[in-house]
Amino acid sequence: MKAVLDHIGIAVSDLPASLAFFRDTLGLHLEASEDIASQKVRAHFLSTGQSSLEMLEATSADSPIAKYLEKRGPGIHHLALRVEDIAAALAHLKARGVRLIDERARPGAEGALVAFIHPSAAHGVLVELKQPAPAVPLFRTVGRHTLGDLELVSLSDGFIRLDGGAMFGTVPRTLWSKRLPPDDTNRIPLGMRPLIIRGEKTLLIDAGCGDKMDAKSAGIYGLDRRYHLDHSLAEAGLTVEDIDIVLASHLHFDHVGGFTALAKDGTIVPRFPKARYVAHRGEWEDATHPHERNRASYLPENFVPLQDAGVLTLVDEGAEVMPGVRFRWSGGHTPNHQVVMIESGGQTAVFTADMYPTTVHIPDPWIMGYDLHPMDTLTFKRAFAKEAVEREYLLFFEHEPSLAAGYLREQDGKRVVERLI
Ligand SMILES: [Zn+2]
Ligand SMILES: [Zn+2]
Repeated sequence: MKAVLDHIGIAVSDLPASLAFFRDTLGLHLEASEDIASQKVRAHFLSTGQSSLEMLEATSADSPIAKYLEKRGPGIHHLALRVEDIAAALAHLKARGVRLIDERARPGAEGALVAFIHPSAAHGVLVELKQPAPAVPLFRTVGRHTLGDLELVSLSDGFIRLDGGAMFGTVPRTLWSKRLPPDDTNRIPLGMRPLIIRGEKTLLIDAGCGDKMDAKSAGIYGLDRRYHLDHSLAEAGLTVEDIDIVLASHLHFDHVGGFTALAKDGTIVPRFPKARYVAHRGEWEDATHPHERNRASYLPENFVPLQDAGVLTLVDEGAEVMPGVRFRWSGGHTPNHQVVMIESGGQTAVFTADMYPTTVHIPDPWIMGYDLHPMDTLTFKRAFAKEAVEREYLLFFEHEPSLAAGYLREQDGKRVVERLI
């Protein structure tokens, strides 16, 4: 089992005096307080970087903390180790004959699951195991929708974690972290959701980050591809052979890493053997001539092999790649970033790519720090939001962790997303 220090619990008899020392004298930041009714305690968390101190105050005379104070006086009460799967951790300990206070996990503070190991088994230390609440519900499966004569199938290439600050640019953490709580290294989970359009042909927009990333980068980006594009295609009843056209919203690695694959002989080849790949001409120019600011996002192995294999077509905005499917310039994120307009039977869907990466980016000024031209993003978003509400566009959110698509509605002067998939 793998465990990291989550917090150290300290029993306090005089909270203001303890805070005067730990908060005011040591300068630790008081993060949150919470009543834990089942334990008859109030917990106050002070941040110490990746872990915290938990000041425990008894709220009743028969609280375990009150009893502890009576017997031992104030001081260190327990230490808590964070585990990914508490049931597995308890099974592991039980199998080794470790004496447990809680044989089964029970609810703790902040929606976590907790269980205690008996101090006699831990050499005099009371050890708590804690499995934190899943911060964001992750939506993994395939979603379908019929739009006129077209069938839209939302897929998943798993999840990637990016720095929350970078994802929200000038928006303060206190605001975005309420909507997308970050992990202990400030990263937030993001989906990678390619979209299939089945009409005259079978077209795929973007393909996630693929499987060529080395272990170090995969660790940095917290890649979770236990369920990835191949699984998703299979769930949709498709294989890589069924794709006729592959379209790139832009050429960043988290969108086109899955365009190519490593062959058995070590060469990098197009992943969709029968497909023609379509990219925007200006975006191609930028990707193949990167500068210091965008070099880390444009990885040549994701797109140069397509040109080498002769399967690449470059187009300009407005180009109709298949009946009902066309590029529309949005710019901002990259100078030639494209959203994809999908129209059939009088209805419109839009693959918004990195213009609205998540539903949390709906407010006009909530713009990614990654964007090269944020003022272009702002101008586009202002006009687009109005249009999307009025014309009832179905919007696909490529990086949204917990849903795939929905309608933008205006309710009491606020924009909300009504989930469809
Ligand atoms: Zn991007
Ligand atoms: Zn992206």
